[in-house]
Amino acid sequence: MTTIPTTPLPDGSQVPVFGLGTWMMGERRGDHDREVATLRAGLDLGITLIDTAEMYGQGGAERVVAEAIEGRRDETYLVSKVLPSNASHDRTIRACEESLRRLGTDRLDLYLLHWRGNYPLEETVRAFERLKADGKILRWGVSNFDVEDMEELEAISRDCAANQVLYNLSRRGIEHDLVAWSRERSMPIMAYSPIEQGRLARSSELADIARTHGATPAQIALAWVLDKPGIVAIPKTSRPERVEENLKALEIRLTDEDRDRLDRAFPPPRGKTGLEMI
Ligand code: NDP
Repeated sequence: MTTIPTTPLPDGSQVPVFGLGTWMMGERRGDHDREVATLRAGLDLGITLIDTAEMYGQGGAERVVAEAIEGRRDETYLVSKVLPSNASHDRTIRACEESLRRLGTDRLDLYLLHWRGNYPLEETVRAFERLKADGKILRWGVSNFDVEDMEELEAISRDCAANQVLYNLSRRGIEHDLVAWSRERSMPIMAYSPIEQGRLARSSELADIARTHGATPAQIALAWVLDKPGIVAIPKTSRPERVEENLKALEIRLTDEDRDRLDRAFPPPRGKTGLEMI
């Protein structure tokens, strides 16, 4: 069992820096058993953080998670998300209750607004605070919020626990400002698509560096994300054997030379770019 390092949240609690994504799970009946087995393999290896959403498989991913964590709820750190189209006050509460029912649990460790929609942020925040007061969520956060959105949110509430955004070697725009903004508040960034949906696993530049570490390109992509303080990586796989491969990225120590090579192949941003989303 691996002990996964943690990073602090603004409320003083800790979140593991490595978790399992579930997008594309719960979509095909034929994949169900393998998906459940993958998440269970992760739990067996000590990976407790699972990231899901009501959107994934239209509730199907949450049902896969439910089966994987059955009898093991207390060892998991569960994250789910409300769709912006459900983010009115009353519908946020209902959406959360439906997620809890599908997940077979009475609480979420973290509940996120999936991206900004048309409902006023105040309304969604009020619903999050209600859910928190009722013990249905332990904390809340957002996803796909840029610095401007975060500042608007901060004017409404200082209770946001995390922001989940696209971040990997080929999507470094947030290094311009959002990373520092979040770090100042000790607010983790949850890096989604850390392997660029599998594309970085096919990069020849990463393959070269990987060879020098006896690693795989996907591991180098993950090691690069995990190298940074305050960042949580949530790669997704539906193959049990890849869970351990991805987790082992935590053991890779990139050298200054590796970092320079990676900066040349995947340059950091030169200025402000709009927040990218997948
Ligand atoms: P990832 O970067 O995690 O890549 C997933 C893809 O990479 C899958 O096709 C997977 O295939 C493949 N893969 C995984 N491990 C390896 C490996 N070791 N070698 C080669 N290929 C590999 O992309 P995601 O978009 O899934 O992002 C991760 C998670 O982040 C999501 O599952 C979701 O939970 C969250 N997310 C959140 C978003 C948001 O708006 N908040 C948006 C997008 C994602 P296989 O399954 O066959 O292994």
